Amino acid sequence: MTLSPAVAALAAADFSGIVPHFIAAGFAVSEPAAGVVQIVGDPSRTSVLLSVGVHGDETAPIELLAQLLDVLARQPQQLAVNLMIVVGNIAAIRQARRFIDVDLNRLFCRERGLLSATAEAARADELMLSSRVFFTRAAGLRLHLDLHTAIRGSLYPTFAMIPHGIAATDRQALIALLGHAGIAAVILNRSAASTFSAYTAAQFGATSATVELGQVSALGDNDPARFAAASATLARTLRGEAAPAIPQVPLVFEVVQEIIKRSDTFRMSFDGTTPNFTALSRDAVIATDGIHAYRVGHDEEYVVFPNPAVRIGFRAALMVVRCDAPAVFGAAH
Ligand SMILES: [Zn+2]
Repeated sequence: MTLSPAVAALAAADFSGIVPHFIAAGFAVSEPAAGVVQIVGDPSRTSVLLSVGVHGDETAPIELLAQLLDVLARQPQQLAVNLMIVVGNIAAIRQARRFIDVDLNRLFCRERGLLSATAEAARADELMLSSRVFFTRAAGLRLHLDLHTAIRGSLYPTFAMIPHGIAATDRQALIALLGHAGIAAVILNRSAASTFSAYTAAQFGATSATVELGQVSALGDNDPARFAAASATLARTLRGEAAPAIPQVPLVFEVVQEIIKRSDTFRMSFDGTTPNFTALSRDAVIATDGIHAYRVGHDEEYVVFPNPAVRIGFRAALMVVRCDAPAVFGAAH
């Protein structure tokens, strides 16, 4: 399929088609690293980081964002926030692969051990530094949406992970925003994580989420109608426009277990094709690792991101439960 010029440019981390419009409209524009652009006006405005392509084979967010920016660049004075765009794993996007050496979205941390020499570690350093510069000079609200598409089916095709450490009122506003964007379920993670969104939440107090917009298609094959709510919500956010009055409330889950692969003997009751939010009942074996067995501890737990093929030491799945009173979640910790 032929890509639109805007999509092809963003997939190649080329901002040259949009940058002159924002400069002409009076914004300070900088490109601190490849695939990173910062378009900044008054520091008291809300600062919004939108990242795409952190996984190189997840193309729908690249298409969505390219189209948004293409429209906005023609009316640049409508941009009402300070905006940072990140095209994450440029080399992997070029090869239509999830990553080159290792999953970039596990490297937003200081201690990387044996992974320090990977291609993705250097890229994570660039993105961490660029986000630090962007958010450190932000005097207003800070929002980060890291846009993904799931690599498997899901009972809830659209869902978001909300990292630990976001104040309860900000988290409620974020959940409302995600609902308007068509996100059916949110998962609250109370543990530290080394994802991009967890990093910006922990380091810069950003209201952050990893947003799964649906299943992956090849670049140019994603149906834009499926992402209409997300696209409209992002367009409103960038223009500082109010959300529609009718709330769309996602279901709320929380993480109760992280399944970590500790050895080569790790075996899981799911494989990489198991749909997200597949349920298991109390006492069911989730995985075994040598003599250790991971079991379901609640009446029902749902698996998210099951992937027994991860490297040793990495997360092979998350187990989540429904948590219908998210305010209680915040108060308890
Ligand atoms: Zn992803």
